[in-house]
Amino acid sequence: MTNKNLKQETLCIHAGWQPKSGEPRQLPIYQSTTFKYDTTEQMADLFDLKASGYFYTRLQNPTNDFVAEKIAALEGGVAAILTSSGQAASFYSIFNICEAGDHFVSASTIYGGTFNLFAVTMKKLGIEVTFVDADASEEVISGAFRPNTKALFGETVTNPAVNVLDIEKFAGIAHRHGVPLIVDNTFPTPINCRPFDFGADIVIHATTKYMDGHATSVGGAIVDSGNFDWMAHADKFPGLTQPDPSYHGLAYAKVFGKKGYIVKATAQLMRDFGSIPSPQNAFLLNLGLETLHVRVQRHCENALAIAEYLENRPEVSWINFSGLKNDKYHALAQKQFRNGCSCGVLSFGIKGGREKSIKFMDSLKLVSIVTHVADARSCVLHPASHTHRQLSDEQLLAAGVRPDLIRLSVGIENVEDIIGDLSQAFDAIR
Ligand SMILES: *Cc1c(COP(=O)(O)O)cnc(C)c1O
Repeated sequence: MTNKNLKQETLCIHAGWQPKSGEPRQLPIYQSTTFKYDTTEQMADLFDLKASGYFYTRLQNPTNDFVAEKIAALEGGVAAILTSSGQAASFYSIFNICEAGDHFVSASTIYGGTFNLFAVTMKKLGIEVTFVDADASEEVISGAFRPNTKALFGETVTNPAVNVLDIEKFAGIAHRHGVPLIVDNTFPTPINCRPFDFGADIVIHATTKYMDGHATSVGGAIVDSGNFDWMAHADKFPGLTQPDPSYHGLAYAKVFGKKGYIVKATAQLMRDFGSIPSPQNAFLLNLGLETLHVRVQRHCENALAIAEYLENRPEVSWINFSGLKNDKYHALAQKQFRNGCSCGVLSFGIKGGREKSIKFMDSLKLVSIVTHVADARSCVLHPASHTHRQLSDEQLLAAGVRPDLIRLSVGIENVEDIIGDLSQAFDAIR
């Protein structure tokens, strides 16, 4: 079976592990650190990247690879790897093409953990970032580029503000500066949006969220479209185009072509940093992926119904959800997302500010307060008190986080039960 021409729903079930006659129906968990060979030479060829195969799970494991293959198929990419977390995926995606002395540009409205990684930790490695307002004009964003800029980064739908990124605009800017666009597509998932269709070059995921879907396993993924021509910008990306002394002088983009970026991330970054998921977690992720298309559809239906409900509540001072007709990102969402739906997450504020918002959250019974998001269960978070606690007020606003912002991740329960819980909490804060 080939994946060509199969629709997303079918890929969710069948891409990746495809058993031959007599093999297990479900993806096997290769719970083994290592793999056996008959001759010294067979294994030596693997170490030299002359042959492909498994020898040590820190670099590659079959269970992990089958799941990565499914995610690559869903995104329409040529290659992918799994990582132990979304954070590891963000870090690798940049560090695979940036080194000390390099610079990259990122939208400022991104996940709080990514913001810290870029602003604080990457800086310690000698890699500098400039944050830009994703809604600014092309001229303004272009002004942030320098001769040593190596990438542009953004989030398709931002966590927690749920702003929508204009991927085509960002891709155009990146390509005019000869660098790839890297997009965090965690919230829409490839069911609602395939960033490669709009010009993105590399996609990353926190699979922890909708892809897993049941709050069982932290994980990440990096997918390459294969579209960015590293050799055409050889001077900018020596790590891909020049010989790697740790592999007898092999140049990844030359030897592995469209798959060079992912091979480098595996052979070099995984080898040296080792942020691999356990095969057991990859198995759980695969179970989540099998129902992704069904769950995402329900998340979307429920979120739209709840956004419409909140829009009509007198206590609500503002609401962000691009499915709403009045939302500033509505037109963009119609263009970029399946059925115009970004995801099941929305954000809103309550009249009376921060204190009222907190009191409202504490009054919820069915909807729980957790750091997590994009789960089968409805949940809420107050980013200014939780995920974005480390940011100054100025950084909070730059990240699109108002102090009264409540992030509501709408689950797949019966929508009337969720609305019932919200209603009783509104009554409680009166
Ligand atoms: C959660 C999240 C991350 C980080 O993923 P972890 O698996 O928690 O490390 C990155 N980006 C977005 C958009 C997220 O929601």
